Amino acid sequence: MNLKSSEQKSGQVVLPGERLGVIEEFIPDSGTYVKDGIIYSKVVGRALMDLLNKRVSVYPLIRGVKVPKVGSTVLGQVSNVQTENASVRIFKIDDESLSGLFTGVLHISDVQLRYVESMFNVCKPGDIIRTNIISEKNRVYHLSTKDKDLGVVYAFCSQCGYMLELKRHVMRCPRCGKIEKRKIALDYGKGIL
Ligand SMILES: [Zn+2]
Repeated sequence: MNLKSSEQKSGQVVLPGERLGVIEEFIPDSGTYVKDGIIYSKVVGRALMDLLNKRVSVYPLIRGVKVPKVGSTVLGQVSNVQTENASVRIFKIDDESLSGLFTGVLHISDVQLRYVESMFNVCKPGDIIRTNIISEKNRVYHLSTKDKDLGVVYAFCSQCGYMLELKRHVMRCPRCGKIEKRKIALDYGKGIL
């Protein structure tokens, strides 16, 4: 038990991922998460060590700072695509811009109800995609695009980078003519970022 260092940290400003203590000495409360028995701060905020009740929490420094949660609809940019997974850098949550940087993972089984052969037919790096957070298991935001409002909202040609146009269910690059595939949202190309 190391109460001294914990006491010193109480009231201090902490950053996401900053070590606050261990579960042997504290019960992790709001604004924290636990990994391998160690309690970390989830947000930028002021740490509060309640030594009496042995609770540790972090109060967000900026009011209304949003952190993605299960059930949130988020907007992000596709950063990496593999056959079964795509990673998405989340920059907006429920229409509010984020101050932090969060990454989510979209698995091929969460794209749509119908079978999807490859993630490369769903999205490509650089695309803007709207998803839903379905779980945050193991500190990873798992995303879904199963609803028809969800999916790619802006897609860019993998050959020339121009924005793809949707015409009669076909995604086509107006500049080079390349035809590509995406899992698009109902309002593809019309949304405000
Ligand atoms: Zn093109």
